[in-house]
Amino acid sequence: MKIETQCLHAGYTPENGGPRVVPIVQSTTYAFDSTEHIAALFDMPTEPMYSRFANPTVDAVEKKIAALEGGVAAMCTTSGQAASLLSILNVCSAGDSFISASTIYGGTVNLFAVTLKRLGIECIFVDQEASIEELQKAIKPNTRCVFGETIANPALSVLDIRKFADFAHSNGIPLIVDNTFPTPILCRPIAFGADVVIHSTTKYMDGHAVQGGGVIVDGGNFNWANGKFPDFTEPDESYHGVRYVESFGRAAYIIKCRMQLMRDFGCYPSATNAFYLNLGLETLALRMKQYCINAKIVAEYLQSRPEVESVSYPGLESDPYYERAKTYLPDGASGVISFVIKGGRETAMHFMDALKLASNVVHVADIRTCVLHPASETHRQLTDEQLVAAGINAGMIRFSCGLENVEDIIADIDQAFAAIK
Ligand SMILES: *Cc1c(COP(=O)(O)O)cnc(C)c1O
Repeated sequence: MKIETQCLHAGYTPENGGPRVVPIVQSTTYAFDSTEHIAALFDMPTEPMYSRFANPTVDAVEKKIAALEGGVAAMCTTSGQAASLLSILNVCSAGDSFISASTIYGGTVNLFAVTLKRLGIECIFVDQEASIEELQKAIKPNTRCVFGETIANPALSVLDIRKFADFAHSNGIPLIVDNTFPTPILCRPIAFGADVVIHSTTKYMDGHAVQGGGVIVDGGNFNWANGKFPDFTEPDESYHGVRYVESFGRAAYIIKCRMQLMRDFGCYPSATNAFYLNLGLETLALRMKQYCINAKIVAEYLQSRPEVESVSYPGLESDPYYERAKTYLPDGASGVISFVIKGGRETAMHFMDALKLASNVVHVADIRTCVLHPASETHRQLTDEQLVAAGINAGMIRFSCGLENVEDIIADIDQAFAAIK
């Protein structure tokens, strides 16, 4: 199936006479005929048994997202943050380190630099434009994975996924990519060598601002039995001695993540949230194409305005990431634009307050146009130094293009510039 068809059909096939639409199975538990059946499920978790780590509605969505990303299996979480956290904890323990591109989402910077540090896991941030030789300097004997964002939120830098994958693999460790902004419609990182893909499904995948969630997709290609990951090959005493690689093969990573981490942390979404997410996924392909069209027109318009100092959008020919975007984002650079308004922080806030159609919200990648001021909102916990490292200027506005008629979006920007003159 092509990706547009997968958006509608992957993950769920109705049984004869069954509901056409993925049903909401709002039950925390499941009845079985025998104790033996349940015991067998503890050996091979092929059917849901308890809602802390599996549910049929969520399962359908997981299968759909795995198909969209070209992975072997997926696991949903209650937020993008939970997906980032579990994706790392599945390979790192106290005393380990990992490497992350510094241009990533502010919430992820905080998770990696502050909270994981308190758990004894060290994150070493690197400039994603560094050469492989320079990146190699961050590698230590305890380095367990490499992390980056396909299109960074909000810096909008484009990750050289192949370079990062080669770098990780030459050190025997996996590459984890946050693919929230492009979604699998615009980029499938596994095809470029990524081993694990995560998303905040709160953003484009849902698209309508009705559910918050995350997902982890296992690419199924990494060799966990290379000697660096004994947790994958040695018996797990917390799970009756299972050896993940031996028992689950290509799905070892995601099953370990579910059976250890989801079991213990319990950040599993509800059936109803998965149902809403699925509705968003059904139109994802259609929506992503239109976001790209609208955003390119708005980016070009912003670039033509004297009030604007600079515009970042990887789909603009003048953008430093334009060439790389042709490789990784051939069908478009998604719907988010960042621009720096002349006059800095104050003018940025003033301009945003003057917008009428675009809403001021703590959100991005919604069906409705929305704006946010990273320096005073999502990234306010970062120091000025971290702000610069994350590619953020105090006058930067993150403009998330919606699916309104683009002429209306531009008219709104126009009146806001006029209002702050
Ligand atoms: C929003 C976001 C997250 C965090 O997701 P939540 O669903 O808000 O927890 C992670 N990564 C990126 C790129 C994001 O935009």
